[in-house]
Amino acid sequence: AFNFSAGPAAVPDAVLREAQAELLEWHGERASVMELSHRGAAFEAMAAESEQDLRDLLAIPDNYRVLFLQGGATQHFAQIPMNLAAQDQTADYIVTGAWGQKAVAEAAPYVRVHTAASSEAGGFRSIPPRTQWQLTDGAAYVHYTPNETIHGVEFFEIPDVGDAPLVADVSSMFLSRPLDVSRFGLLYGGAQKNVGASGLVIVIVRDDLLARQPRPMAKILNYRAHAEQHSLLNTPPTFAWYLAGRVFKWLKAQGGLAAIEEINRQKAALLYSAIDSSGGFYSNPVQRDCRSRMNVPFTLHDSSLDAPFLAESSAAGLLALKGHKMVGGMRASLYNAMPLDGVRALVAFMHDFARRHG
Ligand code: PLP
Repeated sequence: AFNFSAGPAAVPDAVLREAQAELLEWHGERASVMELSHRGAAFEAMAAESEQDLRDLLAIPDNYRVLFLQGGATQHFAQIPMNLAAQDQTADYIVTGAWGQKAVAEAAPYVRVHTAASSEAGGFRSIPPRTQWQLTDGAAYVHYTPNETIHGVEFFEIPDVGDAPLVADVSSMFLSRPLDVSRFGLLYGGAQKNVGASGLVIVIVRDDLLARQPRPMAKILNYRAHAEQHSLLNTPPTFAWYLAGRVFKWLKAQGGLAAIEEINRQKAALLYSAIDSSGGFYSNPVQRDCRSRMNVPFTLHDSSLDAPFLAESSAAGLLALKGHKMVGGMRASLYNAMPLDGVRALVAFMHDFARRHG
């Protein structure tokens, strides 16, 4: 079966097979990888290696810390303003979908939020042109969502926002293609899409931002405290961290991010082309230049066909295609672990379904 879930999402088969063995015993330690103490040498070595592999994949510059944290991206919607801005400072938000909206709502108790651009009025089908963004002089940071998982809107260029540090919720596009980390102040994302298991959030943050310390707060919320302890301030999500490390190795073996991007490009092109050439049987509402490669929402011309589409696709081994309730219809998530053959199978099914129900 091919799993098109938006997250928790498919993990590469090769990684799961390896994890299956290491779940029983980790490298002669007579204990499962899940049972290793985070204070032990075995775990520390694994943690250091996974960070190095991630640094290699993304060419992360030396003046950035990589944090392996908890709380989901949702917690970091709040933790980011807590760590980067004082209450009376302004942070700019660019809103191109539901997740950006949530980030705004969760930041509001900690900073003056200014929505500098939003495509809400048009139903989140496009990215407002950069020339129309109303950025604040001296903003504490500018936040955006490079890929909106529900609305299927993706930025393919990193916006130029001047001097303010750029902060990005990369949850659903992380490691799907190369990304120039040096253009960002902070990147964060949940692992349960391209990086393995839920419970882990990866934060990549530039050193100078850790020095800000705009308010007193508990250590557990403080990025600098986590950086000082190499993400071992308290018990980290050890299994999810381990799994992320296996996924980084798998990505390296695929040829790295440029190679995976090429496959992701082909997968998305195949599916959008099937949608666009279906004579209106299927449709995707997003403006073509910002259609997501990772999450493809689409509707059927007659919503009474949704139930049979889902039942038949599931029976054919094409899983979790039900769309998010906010937008309805279907959604196919094409993260790194989805092979081209999975998309070929989906497209063949869609074609056959349209022929039988058209
Ligand atoms: N941001 C984006 C872009 C997402 O896709 C999601 C979840 O799907 C979240 C944030 C929320 O992540 P979490 O459930 O890990 O808090």
